[in-house]
Amino acid sequence: MASFTLHGIPVSRGIAIGRAHLLRPAARDVKHYLVAEEKVEAEVARLTKAINAVNEELQTVRRDLPPDAPSELAAFIDVHALILADPIIAEHPLKIIRSRHYNAEWALLTQIDELSAQFDEIEDAYLRERKNDILQVGERILKQLTGSASTLPTPMDSGETSAQMIVVAHDISPADMLQFRDRAFVGFVTDLGGQNSHTAIVARSLDIPAAVGMSNASALISEDDWVIIDGDAGIVIVDPAPIVLEQYRESQSQLLRERKKLGKLRKTPAITRDGTHIHLLANIELPEDCAGALDAGAVGVGLFRSEFLFMGRTGHAAKLPSEDEQFESYRKAVVAMKGRPVTIRTLDVGADKPLDKDEETALNPALGLRAIRYCLSEPQMFLTQLRAILRASAYGPINLLIPMLAHAFEIDQTLSLIEQAKAQLRDAKKKFDTKIPVGAMIEIPAAALTLPLFIKRLDFLSIGTNDLIQYTLAIDRVDHEVAHLYNPLHPAVLQLLAMTISAGAKADVPVAVCGEIAGDIKLTRLLLGLGLREFSMHPAQLLSVKQEILNSDITLLEPPVKRILRNYEAVAIAEAVERLRVL
Ligand code: PEP
Ligand code: MG
Repeated sequence: MASFTLHGIPVSRGIAIGRAHLLRPAARDVKHYLVAEEKVEAEVARLTKAINAVNEELQTVRRDLPPDAPSELAAFIDVHALILADPIIAEHPLKIIRSRHYNAEWALLTQIDELSAQFDEIEDAYLRERKNDILQVGERILKQLTGSASTLPTPMDSGETSAQMIVVAHDISPADMLQFRDRAFVGFVTDLGGQNSHTAIVARSLDIPAAVGMSNASALISEDDWVIIDGDAGIVIVDPAPIVLEQYRESQSQLLRERKKLGKLRKTPAITRDGTHIHLLANIELPEDCAGALDAGAVGVGLFRSEFLFMGRTGHAAKLPSEDEQFESYRKAVVAMKGRPVTIRTLDVGADKPLDKDEETALNPALGLRAIRYCLSEPQMFLTQLRAILRASAYGPINLLIPMLAHAFEIDQTLSLIEQAKAQLRDAKKKFDTKIPVGAMIEIPAAALTLPLFIKRLDFLSIGTNDLIQYTLAIDRVDHEVAHLYNPLHPAVLQLLAMTISAGAKADVPVAVCGEIAGDIKLTRLLLGLGLREFSMHPAQLLSVKQEILNSDITLLEPPVKRILRNYEAVAIAEAVERLRVL
């Protein structure tokens, strides 16, 4: 067969080479028939049994999660269990069997198709992608009904131990991905999915090359085809010519060698060639991520996105994590980091991180009641979180970070609520760090343009470039239609970054960057030249950034970076930034 290449969305880096293993959706083999009146209840029971079996299956997967499983996985499996228990799945298809006499599979598929169509109408890209979760749950039930639940090969049972397996599927649920971990599974390709799909997120945290959004890859690729995934480019090469295979094997070994070399830098201090010390910190989402942060040699946590403790629950106040539950999580992180500082960001919900997935979405959620705006409108909830963080500060160094501040009164209200939380703890005779540093995220252009307001009142700043770019360039960060306009090197973004870093340096207020650009080695030298000394990123990126730092000389970077700041032409800026890498 001739070789061919498919293009999709790159979601996880690296190269994978192996033989295709196809996961066929059960939906393809479903029979449709009408059941006789007297058999309706038996059919209802058959579907109920399948739903219960899937529930047990999910609980087992959840319970047996290996300790090193990415923290998001448990949450995703919980989402699937919630969908399964929802009347839209647990009850409605039973009604269809009773009213229309459809067989169980047909009734289920009818309901799933109906739900899919409703999801397709949703404008919000993040929410629209959640349709896949429903499809995946439906798929699991179908497999139970049709008796094809186990489609995974047992370890190495293909008889070919040298060829590793690349899973090709229409879609893969996070729970299924976990089952592949113990097998010779090196990458995956799916027809569905985007940057925000759960499958993509899990692939990134497992550090497995993957390409998603490949449209009809699962129809075009056959079982046992040789497949190369180029995760950086988002392409999949099927049945490659020997010379292409050879080239990719060479690049793959090169990558592996580089990784091995990087591993040796774990304990090396991040010091530039001119002797400047740089702090490399980790972004985490749950306390369990601290192990990965330490493994990568992080000197602390620069961003603990606390909202992940709040998400995946249904939204009314009673379901929010209690003060004690939050305290335990924060304390766990602080203890795990063994004396290294942990920067905990207060709840940043809203926009693409809704607290309650059922809640009606605002017209422009990114500009809505998000982050600190939401917290100030729910002071009791905010005070609960503040008390929990303060209590954890008795167990190790914590910095308190506030997202999305833009107005002086917001800073004042926040600081006064922090004082109130401290007073409550004093009354309750609970210990906390009375001098806990409080910092602001600089992620709204208005904040970057009024830095004296922030510097006067706060102890440190952390630039959230993900949002700063979104708000400066007026592009929704989750809308793929404007993704091409998302440019960290836009001169307006660079001006705001430069202003913030230099204002902090002048006032002796530490400034970090905790947005994605902190982990992008193509931009490390630019940031060093702008004066940045604290970088916070996903632990997987930390050692490559450290290597770049070890090879950089800031005295050589400063003059060209000054020139870049006077340039307003995007192409020229991009070229000049590229040239910094050979200095
Ligand atoms: C940012 O905006 O850059 C940031 C780090 O926060 P988040 O991505 O969680 O909005
Ligand atoms: Mg942000």
